[in-house]
Amino acid sequence: MELFDKCYSFTRAKETMKTGYYPYFIPFTDTEGTEVTLDGRRLIMIGSNNYLGLTTHPKVREAAIDAVRKYGTSCTGSRFLNGTLKLHTQLEEELADFVGKEAALVFSTGYQTNVGTISALVGRQDAVITDRDDHASIIDGCQLSCGKMVRFRHNDMDSLDRALGKCDPDQGKMVVVDGVYSMGGDIAPLPEIIPLCKKHKARLMVDDAHSVGVLGKCGRGTADHFGVIEDVDLIMGTFSKSFASLGGFIAGDEQIIHYIQHHARSLIFSASMPAASVAACLAALDVMRTEPERCQRVLDIGDRMRKGYQELGFNTGVSETPVIPIVIGDDTKTFMMWRALYDAGVYTNAVIPPAVPPSQSLLRTSYMATHTDEQMDRVLELFDQVGRELGVI
Ligand code: PMP
Repeated sequence: MELFDKCYSFTRAKETMKTGYYPYFIPFTDTEGTEVTLDGRRLIMIGSNNYLGLTTHPKVREAAIDAVRKYGTSCTGSRFLNGTLKLHTQLEEELADFVGKEAALVFSTGYQTNVGTISALVGRQDAVITDRDDHASIIDGCQLSCGKMVRFRHNDMDSLDRALGKCDPDQGKMVVVDGVYSMGGDIAPLPEIIPLCKKHKARLMVDDAHSVGVLGKCGRGTADHFGVIEDVDLIMGTFSKSFASLGGFIAGDEQIIHYIQHHARSLIFSASMPAASVAACLAALDVMRTEPERCQRVLDIGDRMRKGYQELGFNTGVSETPVIPIVIGDDTKTFMMWRALYDAGVYTNAVIPPAVPPSQSLLRTSYMATHTDEQMDRVLELFDQVGRELGVI
């Protein structure tokens, strides 16, 4: 078969575009956090990971602008060679202190952080054990590592115990879980996972992409939420969500971070975070520490919306955080619901397999500390209206 044949025969997305139900790659002309503009229409945004609403915070904006003035637009090189600024190391020190670890290392994206960390640590002789709902960047990191991969059923501790039991007792092992699951919005039960890791002599890494800024004191993450920072070996986070920037970090013991710094290919062979992104992160971190009410507000909004959806008769799955899926099941119905909400003025994310299991298609909704009560009332009103029209409730 000729290489490009698969591209020419890929028609599914274009067929969906023709029906008007294609919900991806939609270009906004403007975005001000809780609302976006599209073809001159304003929509309430409940499909963003801007949990603390900091993309438009004056301190965060100003920090990014000042950094461009001072350092220009790019570092034009890898952290390893010419691409490290004092600003990067300052962010690393502040992050390590924030999450309660000895050291931290920043990468240019969260995706690269997972891929680079896992592939640096897990060698051919080692094993990596992942939850079935772990983020794609974790899975890609595992594949790149060439180690043995074992998966366990989502948040199922018996299944984790069995998965660990399948590994050689003398083999190096690392369990990798999401702190908050990006589609389900549920939390990894770290107090149950930790004893199993200890029993099987496995290290534990937690991806806190959706938890920093949201869970724990001032948003310190899932380990802080459960009071188990000491027992989590590595804490990973992204800057593309609560931090209102772009990039990612891994935090842990100094010697482990030092090793990752010298072995993670996605760090060494890729250009570093631009100064504007680093400065935005530093300012966001400052806001997290000084305005803890934002963290509480996004949790409260999440609780209120979950309850609201449930009272209307929607299925919110296992959500416990401001990430709330509206499980619809059927792909077509999910697209129809997405489109009807979009026409009515609400922006959500339609998620279909393989991102979720078959017959579990959903609208992923997520909230910001800056959403107003009026916006949330309006969203529930429109979900009620559209859900009834389409027979979802
Ligand atoms: N981990 C999780 C759990 C995520 O949800 C994401 C992004 N959605 C990433 C890692 C990757 O982060 P980034 O977008 O910053 O590359």
